[in-house]
Amino acid sequence: MTPAPGSAAQTVQPVHGTRLDPWIGAYADRTHGMRASEIRALFAVANRPEVVSLAGGMPNLAGLPLDAIAESTQRLVATRGLTALQYGSGQGDERLREQILEVMRLEGIDAHPDDVVVTTGSQQALDLVTRLFVNPGDVVVAEAPSYVGALGVFRAYQADIVHVPLDEHGLVPEALEEALTRLRAEGRPVKLLYTVPNFHNPAGVTLSLERRPRVLEIARRHGVLVVEDNPYGLLGFSGDPLPAMRSMEDDGVIYLGSFSKTFAPGYRIGWAVAPHAVREKLVLASESAILCPSNASQLSISTYLENHDWRGQIKQFREMYRERRDAMIGALSEHIPSATWTVPDGGFYTWVRLPDGLDAQAMLPRAITALVAYVSGTAFYADGQGADHMRLSFCYPTPERIREGVRRLASVVDAEREL
Ligand code: PMP
Repeated sequence: MTPAPGSAAQTVQPVHGTRLDPWIGAYADRTHGMRASEIRALFAVANRPEVVSLAGGMPNLAGLPLDAIAESTQRLVATRGLTALQYGSGQGDERLREQILEVMRLEGIDAHPDDVVVTTGSQQALDLVTRLFVNPGDVVVAEAPSYVGALGVFRAYQADIVHVPLDEHGLVPEALEEALTRLRAEGRPVKLLYTVPNFHNPAGVTLSLERRPRVLEIARRHGVLVVEDNPYGLLGFSGDPLPAMRSMEDDGVIYLGSFSKTFAPGYRIGWAVAPHAVREKLVLASESAILCPSNASQLSISTYLENHDWRGQIKQFREMYRERRDAMIGALSEHIPSATWTVPDGGFYTWVRLPDGLDAQAMLPRAITALVAYVSGTAFYADGQGADHMRLSFCYPTPERIREGVRRLASVVDAEREL
């Protein structure tokens, strides 16, 4: 076939004699910001059994009632198989959307099933929201540090990511006000404020109740839509969940939820709750991306929520993760007292600052040799900051393995300080 003039096939010169990508000149501009996640690159090494991985954010599923889930899955296929295995609605299964409302009520959100869009994990919701709002060069304001998977999405849509600092009470309202005022003065359009208010990934901190309305007020005044990404909100270690930002304001917030951490990520089911008009566009965008979320996954989750004590299961998860958090914090105090860290009141992560300006990225190969893995802080910034930090996850290894991992890490840090 003769390529059309100007087509990629005509203009791209295959690089003969090498294994380089012959299509290198053909990729769309939006791919230029894409890079391999530091976490995914670590995965293969960190998963070796001799390595204690404090790197990944995989939930620990050992407590799930697998026999009961197997039985209800079998029943589901026998009784509703033709629906479960068929295409479904682009917005998501109606019964599941009603059940999602029950889950969100625990954080004070009062919505209608029509407001909910079921997605393939909250990761897809992040992608859809960004696709709807962000033109190349538009600013997305994100916490410093931010969830690496969200930064990847913003980069893929060629957003200009501007970081705003966090402290132990979450996003700092004064810094947000200052950044939005400056960006407006510079004529740079800000489309989204991306925030993880509860048990932040990677920082482990929670936006205080007092700051929530202040952040919302600042965003509203500057005409910036808030994306509240909340996969960990029900995994708090003390007290009731804080009210979601979406419970305080309907119009200026897109709320993202997920079953990945409170049930199981393998189903790949999350959701978005958006202002009415946005919700309609989200459904259109999702239909063009995936037609519809998996019916089999949705009905499995719906059956689980119907037939199991999911609140009790979440309570069990909270207790398990609290014990692991305690093991992590205790081991850090004992073995690496020269570092500083956040003490998360929920979720999966603590954010550790290394002593003496040590560089977590440079140290990583030595840590892997010492059979312990973590994620360097640089992964969580769009601008190369964070080398003196690391994210340590306490979700997956047992308390004993966590203590062993921190002991190994301490020996690496000690050796590094002597260099
Ligand atoms: N947001 C945050 C803050 C996360 O930590 C994660 C998963 N690590 C996600 C979104 C994506 O979760 P999922 O797609 O599994 O719902």
